Amino acid sequence: MFRSLLTAAAVAALMAGTAHAQDVKTAEGLRDKALRDYLAWDITEDLTTNIGPRLVGSPAMERAKDWGAAKFKALGFTNIKVEEFAKPSWTRGEESAELVGPYPMKLAIVGLGRTLPTPAGGIEADVALFKTYADMIAAPDGALKGKIVVITQPMVRAQDGAGYGVAGISRRSGPVEAAKRGAAALLIRSISTSDSTVPHTGVTANGEGVVTIPAAALGVPEAEQLERLAAKGPLRIKLKLASTFDPKDVAWNISGEIKGSEKPDEVIVIGGHLDSWDVGTGALDDATGVAITTAAAKLIGDLPKHPKRTIRVVMFGSEESGGSAEAYLDAHKAEVPKIVLAGESDSGADRIYALKLPAGGGAHPLAGTAAGVLAPLKIYLDREPSTHGGADIAGLESAGVPSISLEQDASRYFDYHHTMDDTLNKVDPVQLAQNVAAWASFIYLVADSDIDFRALKAAVPAAASH
Ligand code: ZN
Ligand code: ZN
Repeated sequence: MFRSLLTAAAVAALMAGTAHAQDVKTAEGLRDKALRDYLAWDITEDLTTNIGPRLVGSPAMERAKDWGAAKFKALGFTNIKVEEFAKPSWTRGEESAELVGPYPMKLAIVGLGRTLPTPAGGIEADVALFKTYADMIAAPDGALKGKIVVITQPMVRAQDGAGYGVAGISRRSGPVEAAKRGAAALLIRSISTSDSTVPHTGVTANGEGVVTIPAAALGVPEAEQLERLAAKGPLRIKLKLASTFDPKDVAWNISGEIKGSEKPDEVIVIGGHLDSWDVGTGALDDATGVAITTAAAKLIGDLPKHPKRTIRVVMFGSEESGGSAEAYLDAHKAEVPKIVLAGESDSGADRIYALKLPAGGGAHPLAGTAAGVLAPLKIYLDREPSTHGGADIAGLESAGVPSISLEQDASRYFDYHHTMDDTLNKVDPVQLAQNVAAWASFIYLVADSDIDFRALKAAVPAAASH
């Protein structure tokens, strides 16, 4: 413990001697300007209000594509690109559910993204309820056959959002596994940290060759009610889900650049995703991620002299049901060796509390410089390396591009995530500006440096790497 504190102090002491003093001053200036800048708020307000929900395949998503390109142009970005890729789309229809027995009660539900529809008349069946996903997997043969299966596993609230991955398995794999066991349909407790009746959608297993069943999410109080009732006797539920699927649809990754002044072919890729679910207006997920990274790059672009390297902001076009990460890598394979760093903002808009660098990055003097610039924002340099910078940059990461994580406080994020409540009034402008301050100052430091994260990673002894 004391040794690690000393190490951090030693790194900080190196800072003044090794970083270019002018760079530190510029980064601090960007940081302080961003705290008083409203551009990220304006972008978020514009996208959520004028475009609204942005489901892949919807007319709104097509408008969002034009909005993105126009926004880059208006803000002075250059080399603006709209890159189209194939992406089958799914469109929600009418949905309803009710408890039929032991007494009638309407249930607040939302179909999982890309679920199959039920027959037009719906499905009515007895319920097999499991308190965890693991309980369902362990159920004896035949226990699920012909049943509407209900999984009521809760999600744990955590600053880093770690509860999402754990609870999310009910949504991601539940329908496929329940179908294998003969279930007629699946209802899950929303993957949520809220106590609200508003249900949470989100993608489930989809694609050609995936045999699955209709699946939806329940509001949290309803899931708890069903759990109590199931302990007392048999339940019966009626579920209706409608949707359509277009296998030939497309989506777009949209990008714009702040061109580097000395090494413009070396590129830092940052961004968020432009698409959202069809419920709510995708404010926290992920209008703010688009806004934070665009506003940060715009502040850097307004400097009297651009940093050495190019900063490219990408508004990724299909995160929610996947596709933009692979499409981005496909379109930029030849350029990968020149992409020096990637990062994504996609956990809402609450304050950033930690920076994770690529493996080996912590040993470089720039780490100490960054820690010093970020400290007044109450951001610490995490000793753990960044392993997963965001779903949309996962393709680049898989091709060896180093990534960073500016970790956002996700304590509140999963109260609203993928719901009708993901709206502008959940965005805190003060915390939003803190995000922009962190991105602008940190990305500037990397852009105006020669730091080579790939070489630093290669130098990490195997035993010391995480
Ligand atoms: Zn997202
Ligand atoms: Zn999402």
